[in-house]
Amino acid sequence: MRKEFLPYCLPMIGDEEIAEVVDSLRSGWITTGPKTRLFEDQFRAYTGALQAIAVSSCTAALHLSLAAMGIGPGDEVIVPTLTFCATANVVAHLGATPVLTDVDRNGLLTPEAAQKAITARTRAVIPVHFAGQACEMDGLRQVAQKHGVRIVEDAAHAVGAAYKGEKIGQMGEAVAFSFYATKNMTTGEGGMITTRDPELAERMRRIALHGMSRDAWKRYSETGSWYYEVLEPGYKANMTDIQAALGIHQLRRLDGFIQRRQQLAALYHGRLSRFAELELPEELPDRRHVYHLYPIRLRPELLTADRALFIEELKRNNIGASVHFIPLHRHPYYRNSGRYEQRQFPEAERIYSGSLSLPLYPRMSDADAEAVCASVADLVRQYRRPAFPGCSVETSKTELTGSGL
Ligand SMILES: *Cc1c(COP(=O)(O)O)cnc(C)c1O
Repeated sequence: MRKEFLPYCLPMIGDEEIAEVVDSLRSGWITTGPKTRLFEDQFRAYTGALQAIAVSSCTAALHLSLAAMGIGPGDEVIVPTLTFCATANVVAHLGATPVLTDVDRNGLLTPEAAQKAITARTRAVIPVHFAGQACEMDGLRQVAQKHGVRIVEDAAHAVGAAYKGEKIGQMGEAVAFSFYATKNMTTGEGGMITTRDPELAERMRRIALHGMSRDAWKRYSETGSWYYEVLEPGYKANMTDIQAALGIHQLRRLDGFIQRRQQLAALYHGRLSRFAELELPEELPDRRHVYHLYPIRLRPELLTADRALFIEELKRNNIGASVHFIPLHRHPYYRNSGRYEQRQFPEAERIYSGSLSLPLYPRMSDADAEAVCASVADLVRQYRRPAFPGCSVETSKTELTGSGL
């Protein structure tokens, strides 16, 4: 057993980040300024997006995207039920109705599920690139185009991910990224919106800062640079240079972080795929999976321990774990509100019933990951349902290697 507790997640902050934050503090420029603009430029270059707008969180990014599209009361927005509450909360904030849909076995919203959920009131769909793997975007774009529906991508898990060779953020109408402390790169709190639509970008920029016209002083130069006009009642969602100071360096290191996440995922896969009692994440073709999460699912028909007990036992072995996510339709607000259509969510229920996410972050050593695997393996052996004679589950399945990753 490990002597020290292995937290579920830890950020990777280096000396460059720390020096850059100190530089911001000493410079006197601590809110939105040159470093925020630099971070936006770098993010555009990294993703290949035409426009990038740095904001205070991914929640704000999703909210501003929908608001800039004019979504409001009477409108419906399709949201997968297996996501963080922010994805649907922002729809409710605007007075619109989140329409929850089921996901596929990889936790992804499919074009078929989106198609089924579309009504005359549907204005947008929010695919979530769950765990760091992109949704089937060609199919989703076809469905959206056919019905005149917008796509706002929740890419909180997916900075650096790719679909058919195209980076997430590059082609989207509005793509929301998160730099929350646990995400693949962090600014403590923070987010980014990318878009290929310059008009939408202009409106999002405006409502991210009170609805103030940034260029008013140019048009009214005789009245001086103190002059601005409020064109609509916007919000307050700008990123600060202190956050951007972190982001600039995190982004430079991102591909290294992703590579390490992929290595650790391959290690998990190599050690755990021999257990029929576990379902492991699947890598889809034509995707760059950036492994924000490594969720495994316990098969209840083969194990006597449930997920809660498994997480307790891991904790006793000094290993942190988490759950992604409690499906939205289970939360009282969404469950009880008459405004949300009650549907069946068999796949989200199946995933939720047995899933836990193992620790996965670049600060982990191979030895850390090996210890996680050893603990999981012990627990599987300990809680294995008695097999039929002559049919040991561990040996009846061909051992897979990490080569599939
Ligand atoms: C973390 C997360 C968010 C919210 O990100 P913040 O930057 O904390 O607002 C939204 N959607 C998903 C799927 C997330 O995991």
